[in-house]
Amino acid sequence: MITSAACGSGTAGTPGPGPGPGPVPGGVPQPVRYQPLTEGLPPIPQVDAPLAIRVIQPVANQPRPSVDSTFVYGSVGTGDVALLVNGVQVPVAPNGAFIAYLPLPADGAWRLEAFKGRERAEATVSYRAPSTTPTQPGPARTGSTPEGAFPAPLAGVVTGGADMLATGSDAVYARPTPTGTYRWFFPRGTRLSLVERRRAQYRVQLDTASAWIDTTAVRVQPGAAPAAPASGAMQAQVVPVADGAELRVASGFAPFLVNVVDGGVTVTVYRAGTATVQVERNEFVTGATMTAAGAGATQAMVSLARGAWGYRASYRPDGTLVVRIRQPPRVDAGDPLRGMRIVIDPGHPPAGATGPTGLYEGDANLAIGLRLAERLRAGGAEVILTRTTDAPLELAPRVEQAVERDAHLLVSVHNNAFGEGQNPFRSHHTSTYYFHSFSRDLAAALVAEIAPVVRIPNRGAMYGNLALVRPTWMPSTLTESLFMPIPEQENALRDPQFIDRLAEAHARGIAAFFRARAGR
Ligand SMILES: [Zn+2]
Repeated sequence: MITSAACGSGTAGTPGPGPGPGPVPGGVPQPVRYQPLTEGLPPIPQVDAPLAIRVIQPVANQPRPSVDSTFVYGSVGTGDVALLVNGVQVPVAPNGAFIAYLPLPADGAWRLEAFKGRERAEATVSYRAPSTTPTQPGPARTGSTPEGAFPAPLAGVVTGGADMLATGSDAVYARPTPTGTYRWFFPRGTRLSLVERRRAQYRVQLDTASAWIDTTAVRVQPGAAPAAPASGAMQAQVVPVADGAELRVASGFAPFLVNVVDGGVTVTVYRAGTATVQVERNEFVTGATMTAAGAGATQAMVSLARGAWGYRASYRPDGTLVVRIRQPPRVDAGDPLRGMRIVIDPGHPPAGATGPTGLYEGDANLAIGLRLAERLRAGGAEVILTRTTDAPLELAPRVEQAVERDAHLLVSVHNNAFGEGQNPFRSHHTSTYYFHSFSRDLAAALVAEIAPVVRIPNRGAMYGNLALVRPTWMPSTLTESLFMPIPEQENALRDPQFIDRLAEAHARGIAAFFRARAGR
């Protein structure tokens, strides 16, 4: 799992006990064998060992979730076991793994009883008792600006640093609503017209639209009235550079939005007025225009013979917006991995999910990643692994490696987990994530190869606001192949031959993505 959005995303199902469990009529219960949720994964081996109950989720003393029902999973250490969880019989897999979806106990305690022949074991996992001390209101925020709409707009400058991950460059993000997904990436120096503060966010007036940005990313210019929207002709030029082309716009630090579109790149600059663009055409750049885009905005369109692979945007000290547009690599259809530089990121640690018998997601991800790297190298690719050991690595350096090394692709390898209250029997699926539209084909190519190998329901390529899929310099995707908490899915991730097949599926997806771009 990763942060809060993937690995546990999805919608909570309606309560239900899941397959198998039922009330116990009385006496010592007989084992109920766990039935895998889907067929086709490696069979779960039989384990014969002493009873040992270990609950992975929920964790003792965690806060009580505000849901009606939730999942409980872990292991009893051995097969052929009858397991009761708060009096409801729960099937147990041959290796002792179990998972159930049950009503939240009124007293906040999960009581487990396990029976194997004459052996009996029990365990209790309780939520933290509700705090009896009323929560103290935090100190009132004493910002330099009042909360609410400002009587007149204030001038602000982006100071950078709030999200180094956004683009792999020094940019901060802004979004269309205070809790919406990131849409704009503003480099350091961008000048903003601030019209409102709500808690720790400013509302920025763009054209007719507005954007929300963290107050920590903006310095308010003391006493300064906002600069009147500069008018007059805005000069722009498109110049060939080594790895593609640069659009340079004398926009005076105006906020902007970059979009990779079919056949080129659009850059919307939130500044009104006339604009002219000079373009140096070559085999990559076929033309450029600048036109008014509604009230208060001007849009540049750079037309590209082979489309854009990615971009980076920054401001020069003189207020020139520089959008570096990356040209696609040349791909040989018969040998699509040859010469490609690919960053493989085995997800976690820190954080990450753990399966019922204790398999850690970070270990499974690394096993897949190492095998995937071998497959790609055998195909002629240059592969950079963000980690090759179990030492923790935060998200930022993972993205930075891909951007600094000019990787053609970034693929982050994960396996999934459930969010509190989700019904595991209904919510498990394989999926891949992308953020930018130019990464969607990559996500789709991978999940198309992964789904037939994992043989669980296929959710396909999904939009996700995740750090590892936000860089703008190359297509990137994050794979969530299987769910760690489900017994047969955890077991498959312990199987070296299955890991091979899963890694090969990733490699085939990557090759297919490149192959589709051959000849362009
Ligand atoms: Zn993960």
